[in-house]
Amino acid sequence: MTSDMSRPVTDTILNFIGGVYRRGSDGKTFANVNPATGQHIGLVHEASKADVDAAVAAAKTALNGPWGRMTTAERIKLITAVAAEIERRSEDFLEAEVADTGKPRHVASHIDIPRGAANFRMFADVIATMPTESFATDTPDGGRALNYVARKPKGVIAVICPWNFPLLLMTWKVGPALACGNTVVVKPSEETPRTAALLGEVMNAVGMPEGVYNVVHGFGAGSAGEFLTSNKDVDAITFTGETGTGQAIMQKAAIGVRDVSFELGGKNPAIVFADADLDKVVEGLSRSVFLNTGQVCLGTERVYVERPLFDEFIRRMTMAAQAFKPGAAGDPAYLGPLISAEHQEKVLGYYAKAVAEGATVVTGGGVPEIDGAQGGGFYVEPTLWTGLAHDSTVMREEIFGPCCGVIPFDAEDEAVALANDTEYGLCATVWTENLSRAHRVAAEMRVGVCWVNCWFLRDLRTAFGGSGQSGIGREGGVHSLEFYTEIQNICVKL
Ligand code: NDP
Repeated sequence: MTSDMSRPVTDTILNFIGGVYRRGSDGKTFANVNPATGQHIGLVHEASKADVDAAVAAAKTALNGPWGRMTTAERIKLITAVAAEIERRSEDFLEAEVADTGKPRHVASHIDIPRGAANFRMFADVIATMPTESFATDTPDGGRALNYVARKPKGVIAVICPWNFPLLLMTWKVGPALACGNTVVVKPSEETPRTAALLGEVMNAVGMPEGVYNVVHGFGAGSAGEFLTSNKDVDAITFTGETGTGQAIMQKAAIGVRDVSFELGGKNPAIVFADADLDKVVEGLSRSVFLNTGQVCLGTERVYVERPLFDEFIRRMTMAAQAFKPGAAGDPAYLGPLISAEHQEKVLGYYAKAVAEGATVVTGGGVPEIDGAQGGGFYVEPTLWTGLAHDSTVMREEIFGPCCGVIPFDAEDEAVALANDTEYGLCATVWTENLSRAHRVAAEMRVGVCWVNCWFLRDLRTAFGGSGQSGIGREGGVHSLEFYTEIQNICVKL
């Protein structure tokens, strides 16, 4: 059973600035809602502009304090201690994440929380083993010079993150930022402030110097998000969220020519060839469509199936969809709620639009009937459509819900063209037992990540990011160092 059902309305979620928990200086608060029940379960203290400026100032001061003077080995030790402390307090993080998102405990306990710790540990390892570039250079007078690269922290990094995997996506940025010697000001989504706030306790427990990690709560435009991106002492901005928000942040980043790293939206395709192992396909694609109630940037919303397999694929995927149980908290088949009433309305708008655009609703398409405490939660049914035109709105726009449209194809070229016909380019999956075709088609996908016969198999050392409107830059392993460090070339005449 989830314990969030009975959570009292007494939780107070504070900003964390300079190592101290603080209320918002202008007294504003907003409600923290449990999406599984629709109940208010806490009050979040919204950061004012003065609070955001104080957080950035604390982060800037910390760069020149004990943190800035630490050796790499000392920094690695602290960051590794953060990972261990998250693991020690994993139950607290689990409670916080489940309360904010309503997601199944087994999802949070297998994905969100362990990845929160792994994001610190892995980047501590990357820093510990990082090589540097050097060249022996001939000089005009017949002598030699040594060119080498020194990597320095970029400074104060603004970390702005979404609500779907709050701790995971935040630490994916905070881990490498700190490992590289930067300081951070985090603006979590207003829907999911808890784990970012809780991480402040971890930082204090391990003895992280004050100001290295700061959290400001609030909204986007006209609130903490915009105050943060507008602050001229922020040296770089790393953001995960919607493409439209990325565009707004980029305009702010232009002031002062600040660097950005963006992980944005997607409309990810799957191509299923007739020779694919259907058991593997249904296992992988049902997770890809329905895991986290479809609120996964890497999730699949467009499926192209080779015609001979089409009917059987639909039959099996329908069974898989119907096995997910919205509202059945505690049941291993629990399909959690969407994050908010507003997002539920958006997803249901696409469900209606699909019908208006001529879809056959194979399964789902509405709001499930749920009794008891969860009757007020923001649930929708897992949904499959056929009969949609490839260029329909529902097949082009990111929905971020537990749904996908399935379209048959007859030839490999046709499938590749359909999959690539999108302004996005985050990820794709290809399902085939034909080795040559697997490599050929994977290489033709215009995406940052292509999975073959699997999905969401992540190795944190690999480059992660999207092409097209799905992002700018790559993070992961040594690729994160490109963003979180400033490279200086030093040339020494010998
Ligand atoms: P949003 O873009 O709405 O919000 C993301 C964060 O940006 C939130 O903290 C939000 O604050 C903040 N924000 C909003 N407007 C501004 C602004 N003008 N200035 C500064 N900050 C702002 O995304 P969602 O939270 O709705 O997340 C879902 C989106 O994230 C989907 O599009 C999904 O594809 C994408 N995503 C991409 C991933 C990737 O790796 N490519 C991974 C996961 C998600 P607040 O919400 O509090 O208003």
